[in-house]
Formats: sequence, C-alpha cells, structure tokens
Amino acid sequence: MVFLGLPGAGKGTQAQTLARTHNLSQLSTGDMLRAAVAADTEIGRQVKDIMAQGDLVPDRLVIDIIGEHMSAPACAKGFILDGFPRNVAQAEALDKMLEEKNIKLDAVLELVVDTAILGDRINSRIAAQPNSARLDDTETTLMQRVKVYEEQTAQVATYYEAKGLLKRVDGMQDIDTVTQQIKAVLGV
Ligand code: AMP
Repeated sequence: MVFLGLPGAGKGTQAQTLARTHNLSQLSTGDMLRAAVAADTEIGRQVKDIMAQGDLVPDRLVIDIIGEHMSAPACAKGFILDGFPRNVAQAEALDKMLEEKNIKLDAVLELVVDTAILGDRINSRIAAQPNSARLDDTETTLMQRVKVYEEQTAQVATYYEAKGLLKRVDGMQDIDTVTQQIKAVLGV
C-alpha cells in the first residue's frame, strides 16, 4: 500500500497503526533519511540541508533506499509506503520495482486535510516533543513542504487515480475515526 498526505495529515500515525494491526512493515522514507542524518552517514550529510529546507531529496537516493528495504524478509507479508513516492518519476520507478519483484500494489490511500489546520498540528507536534523536534518542523519549512506537495506529490494521487487504485479519506477527523474509515475503504 501507499499512503499519501500533506505534512501533518497524519499519514505516519495511521500507517503505523495499520502496519501494527495487520502485521505489515511501515517503510517511511522520511524516518530512514532522518536516521541517516542522525547517524551522520554519507547519505545523511547529503540530505540534511535539503530536508531542513523542506525540499525533496534526489529521486535516485530514495528509490534505492526503498528498493533495498522492500526486499527484506520483514516485508514478505506486505508493506505500507509512507512518504514514497513523492513525485511521478518515483511512482514510475516504484511500478517498475514492484513488477520486477512480482508484487501487486493493493491500494493508495490519500489522507485529505485542510492546509489551514496543518500549522496547528505541526505546532502540537513540536510542543509534544520539544527535544526531539524534527528539524523540518518549522512554519517556514512547512510552507515549503506544502508547496512541494501541491506542485509534485498531488500529481502522484492523480497518477494512481487513473489506475483505479486511489482511495481518499478525510484526515480532519479525530485519529480513531480516521483509522476506522481507512479500514472501511480498504476493506480490512
Ligand atoms: P516526511 O517525514 O515523509 O515528511 O519526510 C521528511 C523529508 O524527507 C521531506 O520533506 C523530504 O525532504 C525528505 N523525503 C522523504 N521522503 C522523500 C521522498 N520520497 N522523496 C524525496 N524526499 C523525501
């Protein structure tokens, strides 16, 4: 499955819940990149500033990271891609990788939110974890991340809609209601 949604839409939270209850792996490119930055690896050094600005890191890099992870035994029962693909080039690369591995994409879920409330959600996230606040959780970066989503990632939803795979859920409701609706649209 693929989860799409603006920053702060709750895709990380919802992907985690669904992964836990259905024994799936959650593959979050954002988490993987943040781990690389924290460990100060070669990749981490390459992406740190790009992430802090709210821009997309190079396609090749995330495509390779995802390709490696989806072959891991932990993904054998299925996986949720959280934060990937972020543009059409990544979506096409994903199609190719899945085809090579003989894996079928079951569904693409978009959590739809009102951009006006995202700032509040991000501010709550900072307040909840003041010491581990994400470097890219600032108002300025948030605006850039929303812009990148609208300019590039929204097209990914259209790409999957054309393939008949897209399901939309209103992400403005409380967490448990969103979880129930996700299960309902996915039929799980
Ligand atoms: P996220 O945690 O999914 O919001 O991702 C945080 C940041 O990591 C993004 O703002 C990008 O800088 C980078 N990133 C995560 N996933 C991708 C991706 N699929 N393509 C490019 N950049 C990404």
